[in-house]
This record gives sequence, structure tokens and C-alpha cells, in this order.
Amino acid sequence: MATAALPERARPALMEKLVSLAKRRGFFFQSSEIYGGIQGVWDYGPLGVALRNNIKRSWWRSMVELRDDVVGIDAGILMNPRVWVASGHVQNFTDPLVECKKCHQRFRADQVSGPRHEADGGEFTEARQFNLMFKTFMGPAEDSSTQVYLRPETAQGIFVNFANILNSTRMRPPFGIAQIGKAFRNEITPGNSIFRLREFEQMELEYFVPPADEMKWLDYWKEQRLEWYLALGIRREHLRLRAHAKDELAHYARGAFDVEYEFPFGWSELEGIAARGDFDLAAHQKASGKDLSYFDDIIRERYLPHVVEPSAGVDRSMLTILIDAYHEEQVRDEQRVVLKLHPSVAPVQVAILPLSRKEPLMASAQAVEHELRPFFRTEYDDTQSIGKRYRRQDEIGTPYAVTIDFETATDQSATIRSRDEMSQVRVPLTGLRQALQERLH
Ligand code: ATP
Repeated sequence: MATAALPERARPALMEKLVSLAKRRGFFFQSSEIYGGIQGVWDYGPLGVALRNNIKRSWWRSMVELRDDVVGIDAGILMNPRVWVASGHVQNFTDPLVECKKCHQRFRADQVSGPRHEADGGEFTEARQFNLMFKTFMGPAEDSSTQVYLRPETAQGIFVNFANILNSTRMRPPFGIAQIGKAFRNEITPGNSIFRLREFEQMELEYFVPPADEMKWLDYWKEQRLEWYLALGIRREHLRLRAHAKDELAHYARGAFDVEYEFPFGWSELEGIAARGDFDLAAHQKASGKDLSYFDDIIRERYLPHVVEPSAGVDRSMLTILIDAYHEEQVRDEQRVVLKLHPSVAPVQVAILPLSRKEPLMASAQAVEHELRPFFRTEYDDTQSIGKRYRRQDEIGTPYAVTIDFETATDQSATIRSRDEMSQVRVPLTGLRQALQERLH
């Protein structure tokens, strides 16, 4: 069937359309919406949580399970507050903040243009440094001695466990420790739906290497990470690697790249990959008084490993995948919205649809669904007209639908409809699983 991409995807409107689709279909919702919401926090619905789990599984599979040089950990969100002093976060994890003297709205100084608020002409205050870490209290007293932080990154949980991993595994540099988990940042201006959040999830790898090899590994990881996004089906022309300029680098960093995506609001960071030297291990060794060095008994040398860190966001990956997959197409005189999600991340891979709500179609479709469920992420749906059900499956990105019709009882076959080509092929029920496997994997 002939389909045509609609001319010119209006980029700014795309975000609105996506957020509306996300809500309508259950990908994500504004947190606490019935109370007016809370800025910078979003809740994930049934399809959203499925998509996120698929993203995380894909990351874990490629970064941990398919490698013999990386192990995983799962550290606490709350840590001894000395961690954040040693890591430099208490001192330096800040953004410059300005306030409009007229309306008292606050902004990141590096995100405003000029000395006045565009909206009302109010003058901005001098910029002051604002620490982005959330604070809370541990234990029954609420004073400064019991203050702890919600971690603003998962990486420090890895560094403080470095010696534990060395001592409890057979890992030797070059090797990595990976972690997926929540992080919290009191961003001055959260926004762009799930792009900049105050509560989000990170997927981080700290890869420990002999000092002389650091740049070689930075090069290696930037390529690997770009490949991962491509394997999830994100279009190459919307991705780029950007090297940090000298004046952009943190003082301890030897080099860094961002994987960037062309969002409707412009090219922005999707993932950071940085060569951090021995900054973190050295800082924790000094502050804790514990030896974090590694003795290489082949070259008989003791050293503090250097670190290459690829650090990605689950939420940003999800937004990217959704935006990149969003298509509007003209089919005959109808317009359809379709998420061309890669089968590896699609929340539903196969929809099983009886053509009508009559027997024996429903029983037959349920039996087919039952058979396919152990092998694919499936969904059975017998509500509404078949056309509406196809539209729904297109909108949630389901790559294939199996339709059970009135012929099925006599010819023991069903139709596989492809989301992207909108083609239909007749397949015997006994061959359904294999036919789907070939298409999906
Ligand atoms: P930005 O410059 O956008 O503030 P950053 O350089 O501070 O980001 P990193 O500290 O390098 O970000 O964090 C690594 C990754 O974690 C980011 O590439 C992003 O995917 C994710 N991330 C960081 N901050 C947020 C946030 N506020 N909301 C959602 N994801 C985030």
C-alpha cells in the first residue's frame, strides 16, 4: 500500500504531539497531576515502563552480560555525606542562578540572553552559584549532623565500591563496573517533558584502565556508545559525537565527547563520555584514608587506575527513541500516526486481533496469543473496529499484528500485518511463531 511521509514535520509542534500521545496511550504522565503536578518529575505508565525496561535491558545486555570485562552493582541512593565532599559535589556541583527582580522567576545564567528578562523587562540579579543536590535528613533528628543527600549521579556508588569489587571478583584493569539507578538534581529549569528532570535514571559505566591507555579507551567507548543508539534504530543523521572544547572540560578531565541528538529544540546531550583520569579514586583515597590502588603483578607496578565514564540517561534515551520513531503518514485519504519503534524496545511486539467479536474467532485468537506469549511481548485486543485497533497499535509502535478472521477456522491460517509496510501475508497457524521470529529478530 502506498504511504507517504507528511511533508515537513513541524519540529516545535512535535514535542507537543508526542507528549499528548504519551498521555493518551499511557507512556508518561506529569507526576501528581490531579494536584496540579510537580515540576521536573514524570510518572511512567504501562507502555512507558515497558519501554524503559527494554532500554535498560538492552544497555545491561550490551554493557555487562555480553562482555567478560564488566560487572554490575546496585548501590544505595543515600550515601555517607563525606562521599559528596570528597567527590567535589558539595563544593562544585552548582549552576549559576539569576533572578528577575520584577517577577522573581529564576533561571540558569547560561540560559538567558542579556541582562534583562525578555518577558517583562525586569533586570536580572548578579549570578550566584546554586548547588543542585537535594538534601534530606537521616534518623530521628533534623540537624546538620544528620543531613544526607539524594545522589545526583550513580557514579560515586561505583567509586566507593572499587576496592570491594577488586577484592571479591577476579576483575583486573582494564575492567568496568556498571550501574543503573535513580539520580536526583534540583535543576533550576527542568523542562522539555522528560528531557531535563529533577528525578531521573542513569545508566553508568566506570571503566578502569592503566593510566597510559586512557585515551585509547575513550576512543573505544565513544564508538561503542554511538553504535548502541544506532542498534536501537535511531537514525544516524539525527545523531552526532561532539568533542568537548578545552574550555568546556572539567579541570580533571583529559577529554570528553557527548553523544548528541537533534531534538525538536536543537542538538542536545544524550550521553556524556569522559576520560576522568584518577580524579575520583585519588579523591576518595585521600578523604577516606583507604588504599584504592591496584598492584599489577605482571609488570610489578602499583597504580591508581584511570577511568573512562560513559554516562547515559534512561529518560533521555526514551524521549529520543520516541521522537525518532514518531511519523505522520498519509494513507489513501487518511492520516496515520505511527511510532516506528525498533522491535527490541517496542512495548508490544505482536498484537493478536480477532477480526470480530464472534466465536470461534475470539477463542481462536486467545489460543494464538497464549501460544505466542512466552516468546514475544504480546497483547490481545478485541475492542472497537479492526481499523481503530490497527491505528492504536501503530500509535504505540507495535511492529506486527496477527489477525484471526472467519477463514481461520477452515484454513488454519492467520494474517500478519506489518506496521511499517502495512502489507498483509497469510501464514499457517503452525508457522506463526517462526514467521514472527524471522521478522522480529
Ligand atoms: P546537562 O549539561 O544536560 O545538564 P550534564 O552534562 O550535567 O547534562 P551528566 O552529568 O554528564 O549530564 O549526566 C549524564 C547523563 O545523565 C546525561 O547525558 C543525561 O542523559 C542524564 N541526565 C543528566 N541530568 C539529567 C536531568 N536533569 N534529567 C534527565 N536526564 C539527565
